[in-house]
Amino acid sequence: MTIQFIDLKAQYQALKSSIDARIQQVLDHGQYIMGPEVAELEAKLAEYTGARHCITVASGTEALLIALMALDVKPGDEIITTPFTFVATAEVIALLGATPVFVDIEPDTCNVDASKIEAAITPRTRAIMPVSLYGQPADMDEINTIAARHGLTVIEDAAQSFGAEYKGEQSCNLSTIGCTSFFPSKPLGCYGDGGAIFTSDDHLARAMREIRVHGQERRYVHTRIGVGGRMDTLQCAVVLGKLERFEWEVEQRLRIGTRYNELFAGKVSTVTQRPDRTSVFAQYTVFVENREQVQDKLKAIGVPTAVHYPIPLHRQSAYAALGRISGKVSSSEVMAGRVMSLPMSADLSRQEQEHIVQLVIEALGR
Ligand SMILES: *Cc1c(COP(=O)(O)O)cnc(C)c1O
Repeated sequence: MTIQFIDLKAQYQALKSSIDARIQQVLDHGQYIMGPEVAELEAKLAEYTGARHCITVASGTEALLIALMALDVKPGDEIITTPFTFVATAEVIALLGATPVFVDIEPDTCNVDASKIEAAITPRTRAIMPVSLYGQPADMDEINTIAARHGLTVIEDAAQSFGAEYKGEQSCNLSTIGCTSFFPSKPLGCYGDGGAIFTSDDHLARAMREIRVHGQERRYVHTRIGVGGRMDTLQCAVVLGKLERFEWEVEQRLRIGTRYNELFAGKVSTVTQRPDRTSVFAQYTVFVENREQVQDKLKAIGVPTAVHYPIPLHRQSAYAALGRISGKVSSSEVMAGRVMSLPMSADLSRQEQEHIVQLVIEALGR
């Protein structure tokens, strides 16, 4: 049995006819930039999330950058976020000359600890950027309440959580702005780079649409500084093809994640899911000691694993001087040494999953 960490080939085989037809349509009409599939995808994704606007962009990183640019984030501004995330979250803050302010995580969900955010706010704070890590939304109600009290904007980094629900609402539509990624291995991926921004604020939506295309108000009239940030038509076509069974995939991911929880119960500790929200399990993550040894053992018997993320951002040399830590970030440091993600995709069979669980339990000597 060969186990893939993420099985993109099985997904393509299942969706081949719809994806191939969508790609062929683009090749036939030839509008590779801002073709009709772009608006079609934006309309479908906006409807899916419930947000009034969806703006597709070149990547998840670009989505976060454009969102901050639309808020006019400047050097000296502070953005509160988590150090336990992919680097892009803090990178876009630093690119604008602003300071990422790192607040610790909850050790059980690995999402930012909302109860520690208020202490990090200063007169320079402009926005709060929680990450819905591993596919599970952060405590968005608490975060939105704090933001409203201090006149701040909340940007959800939903790169891993498209399709997840929080108290009956869709991730990406849980705060003023939501940003997602269509990197191939994300829950909704394309075959290259892509991303999307969601908002129900008309003014911000217009600003983000203009920033996406070099700050153009109309052709060759530039009223603000922008970026070359479009998602190309072919990638939009791929996502449209993948939407055909996305609902099924979300259900499947939830079922597989829940089954992992049940099979590991009492034997291996795992990321906790809160009862008022769902996870799309962009990663299924367990906590282990002696991680490198465990990973080596599993690799030798054919179980691929990965670590998201081994070094928290305040410990990265590029960010050590750029960022600021608020309070203690000890949970981020401890969990960075323990997290280990296991194979996860909508096509993972029950038999494969039981095999993985058995080998993980054996490798841990339980
Ligand atoms: C993947 C990811 C991003 C960046 O998305 P790209 O499409 O790769 O640019 C940002 N934040 C988080 C939390 C991610 O997982």
